[in-house]
Amino acid sequence: MTTPPILLPTPSPSSSSSHPTSTTSSKPFHVLIIGGSITGLTLAHCLTAAGISYTILEKHRNLLAPLGGVIGVAPTGARILDQLGLFENLNAIAQGIRILCTGFPDGSGISQAWVREFEGRYGYGFSIVTSQQLLEVLYTGLGERAKETVHGGAEVTKICHEGDVVKVHTRAGNVYTGDLVVGADGLHSIARSEILKIVGRNAIAETSNLTADYRVHVGLSTSVPGLSTSEQIIRSYDGFALFVFCGKDGEVGWFATEKLDQRYTYPERPGYTEEDAMAYCESMSDVNVWGDIKFGAVWKARTSFSHALVDEHVFSTWNYGRVVYVGDSVVKISPNSGLGASVGMECAAALTNKLHSLLSSKSPISKPSTAAIETLLDEYTNSQHRRARMIGFASYGAIRLHSRDGWLNALIGGFVLRSERLAVFWTTVIMRGGIKLDFLPVPRRGSEKQRWNMRSVILLVSVVVVLLAVVF
Ligand SMILES: Cc1cc2nc3c(=O)[nH]c(=O)nc-3n(C[C@H](O)[C@H](O)[C@H](O)COP(=O)(O)OP(=O)(O)OC[C@H]3O[C@@H](n4cnc5c(N)ncnc54)[C@H](O)[C@@H]3O)c2cc1C
Repeated sequence: MTTPPILLPTPSPSSSSSHPTSTTSSKPFHVLIIGGSITGLTLAHCLTAAGISYTILEKHRNLLAPLGGVIGVAPTGARILDQLGLFENLNAIAQGIRILCTGFPDGSGISQAWVREFEGRYGYGFSIVTSQQLLEVLYTGLGERAKETVHGGAEVTKICHEGDVVKVHTRAGNVYTGDLVVGADGLHSIARSEILKIVGRNAIAETSNLTADYRVHVGLSTSVPGLSTSEQIIRSYDGFALFVFCGKDGEVGWFATEKLDQRYTYPERPGYTEEDAMAYCESMSDVNVWGDIKFGAVWKARTSFSHALVDEHVFSTWNYGRVVYVGDSVVKISPNSGLGASVGMECAAALTNKLHSLLSSKSPISKPSTAAIETLLDEYTNSQHRRARMIGFASYGAIRLHSRDGWLNALIGGFVLRSERLAVFWTTVIMRGGIKLDFLPVPRRGSEKQRWNMRSVILLVSVVVVLLAVVF
């Protein structure tokens, strides 16, 4: 399926001066978001719901330009989208995963159906969409106002604090002024590098923790005989792993993670070309995906292909002054956990919760001081950093278990990847700690009461009985 381009309006020189220029301005608190991808657009929805004004500055003109593969929207991300009124639109095009198939090099494999039970308990499961479809849902959901608030061809090159405002400069020569700048600008974040420069050496040294041990080959293919919708296949091999998903209309999304011969430290990159990546995928033609299906069939049916390094690190510095980061700009995790996009959505929701509680206690024209903003951003960082590290740790483990990285991972993976209980436990931990928008109701589908199933009640009663026995 080819999605037609969505061309973002480019800013006119005058539009850059239309934002507040001082704290005494009669204009309301204004947020400048750098990056209009999954995290930036989700933040735009959250801010709209909170009644906070914003402008998105996106370097690409075509919103759908960065061709990706499929994205798994995890239950926590789905709940936020539901609060924002976007879940039905997503559901109309997304394919829910019902069966998880995991295969091993010796030909053995298991099929698990726990996702269905999980969805029944929490209201949301895992939905598969192409990244283009998700971006389209997020962008069109903003409605007509997106033409005013989302600027394409606006590559940010510089960020400066000036008194009680922040100024953002673009390559086209426009200067935007806002009360807060949010870096939703991904791996090569200009917001992160500008701030790391200011905060000094230790923070700069932190970039050296951004490393890549793997690369990923990503593609979409037309339907492949034998693959059924609602199944997710993970095929684990020594040194690599294949992920194959079949979408609602039969379109197949896939990616392969491959262990590299050495570790690369950001911004060092190996000299792989497109041809090298294609040769690698072709060399896997005879590799089994599931049953009789070979990777060659998926590869031959491809309609798009790209490749990238898998950079991994959860940064420690998330904010400075009136600048803060969300999503991939600070949380770079492997695709194997399927949580990257949902982490970005949670960051957007958590930041908006803080802004909403600070701004709703003020009159529309009185702006919080820089000190109040810094406290708010510190609180946001403290609330999100620990969770991001936990998810980062699990994603780090997942790619190594899936790719049987050394004998220990192969041994542990043999047990862990077969365990339905562990999968349910882990997903429950992620769901329970998940962020939602505090100022919006949770739709009935995801409401608290659905969580109380018989097992939870028995567990709770047992804990109370044990506690009583210990005390008395
Ligand atoms: C193969 C693969 C599979 C994945 N599978 C999943 C999955 O199943 N589930 C999941 O949750 N996640 C998955 N992810 C991760 C997910 O895609 C990312 O976590 C998510 O897209 C991050 O979004 P983001 O908006 O934070 O950053 P990005 O998508 O990197 O977007 C950053 C945006 O900022 C813009 N930008 C950058 N610099 C500037 C600048 N200077 N000025 C203006 N704009 C700028 C860019 O153009 C871009 O639009 C996967 C990733 C890969 C590679």
